[in-house]
Formats: sequence, structure tokens, C-alpha cells
Amino acid sequence: MAPIAQLRGVALAYGEGAGRTRILENCDLSIERGEFVALLGPSGVGKSTLLRVLMGLAPPSAGEALVDIPDRPGRRRMALVFQDAKLLPWRRVAGNVAFGLEGLGLARREIEARVAAALDLVGLSPQARRYPHQLSGGQRQRVGLARALAVEPDLLLMDEPFGALDAITRADLQDELLRLREATHKSILFVTHDIDEAIYLADRVIVLAGAPARVQGTFETPTAPRKRADPRSWGLAEEIRAALECVSEIVDFEI
Ligand code: ADP
Ligand code: MG
Repeated sequence: MAPIAQLRGVALAYGEGAGRTRILENCDLSIERGEFVALLGPSGVGKSTLLRVLMGLAPPSAGEALVDIPDRPGRRRMALVFQDAKLLPWRRVAGNVAFGLEGLGLARREIEARVAAALDLVGLSPQARRYPHQLSGGQRQRVGLARALAVEPDLLLMDEPFGALDAITRADLQDELLRLREATHKSILFVTHDIDEAIYLADRVIVLAGAPARVQGTFETPTAPRKRADPRSWGLAEEIRAALECVSEIVDFEI
């Protein structure tokens, strides 16, 4: 079966003329159905830009994004979870989750049922009537996740979703995400700048580095279930660190 999403030879630059900056160059990657892929790279390298290309929000200057997901009524093909949940402060938790469903032509009862199911999935049913300011940071991220899940996407995109959380909450949410993944078998592209997080969560880690950024390597992680600081991953973390440091200018220079 074809990959659920692919980038082929994608290049992208921001700005014009002398102000033109090349961000992505010759980026290839693919995500198989049901796969959990981490996209790993330093801050500012172009990870969010790459997600925007995949979502069709940023047209590449070369190459193409191919997404093989049928359009189905009442659903979205992809959904994005942001680093800061981007909740509407004047809406309750349930209203924020419903937000993603509005515009899908669903009956009110269907919206209510989908909101309840999504809140249940992320363990937030008791907080359904709270406002965002009455939640902890971790709970707000769970709302963001519920809002994304409620539209029943085939591909879930997560842009450093746990980056702003304290270490304990972050570990909780990582485990929650792994449980959700087991329960739903969704295809997931998870963006992070944290090597340990990438290895713990993903089946495969794609390393983006350089200026302009390229895919510097793709690494299979040990078979799940993995432990945090799994001895099986020690060598892998070193290999990934090396790929992050092997930026394209150095490669070009040596050639
Ligand atoms: P990451 O998500 O890996 O931190 P981004 O994709 O957000 O990186 O940004 C990559 C680079 O592109 C950064 O240097 C950023 O400043 C620049 N950039 C992002 N968006 C724009 C834009 N709309 N116009 C100009 N430059 C941008
Ligand atoms: Mg980003």
C-alpha cells in the first residue's frame, strides 16, 4: 500500500531577492500507514515549515507533497496539535474540542457525541465545563489533542506538543500518547527537538539538519515496548547525535 504521506524533493525559501533565505532543500520522507514517525531537528531548522508543506499550507518551490487519504464526510484528513494548545479562552473545554468539528456539517448531537468521546480518550471528561484558564499546562495540551482527535484524522501531526511542559507532565503525556496510539492505530508525525523523546515514542526517527535543511538520516528504533533510557537505544542516540551534527555545509565542503 502507498505511504499515507510523502515529500519528494521538497525545497522552500522565504523572502525574495537579496532577502531570500533557503529553508528546506531536497527533502524526501515518507510515512507509512499506522506508523509513528518522529521528525527531529534543532530549533529554527524548518520542522514547522515542513509540516506546513505537508498540510498544503506552504507551496514548495520545488518538489511535491503527496498525501494519500480519501476525503470522508464529517472528518478531516489531517489534524495538527500545536506546542501551545491555542485554545479559545472564552470557550469551555467542550466548546474548544467542538471548534474543530464546526464546519464539517455534523448534526449537533453528533458533535456532542464526538466531543465526549475525544475528551474521554484523553481523560478529560470531568473538566469538560471548565475554561482554559482553569486548567494546568498538561490539561490544556490534552484539550488540544482531543480537538485534533475529534475530527477523526487519518494522519495526526504534532508540532512539539509537549515542549513547554515540565518533565513529569511531559512523561505522563508521552505515555498517554503511546496508549492512544495503541488504541487508535493512527499514523502520527511527531515533531520534536528532543532525541530521547523521539526514540521513546517513535518507530522511526527522521533527522532534519543543516541550512538549508535536509534529511540527514532515518533511524529505526528498537521494537516497542521501549523503556525510557532503554539500553537498546544508547548506540542509536549516538548515531542520531552524529547525524544532527553532520550538517550539509560540512558534507558539501568535504565533497
Ligand atoms: P522549526 O519549526 O524547526 O523551529 P521553522 O520551520 O518554524 O523552524 O522556521 C525555519 C526558519 O524559517 C526559521 O529561521 C524561521 O525564522 C524562518 N521562518 C519561518 N516562517 C517564516 C516566514 N513566514 N517568513 C520568513 N521566515 C520564516
Ligand atoms: Mg517549529
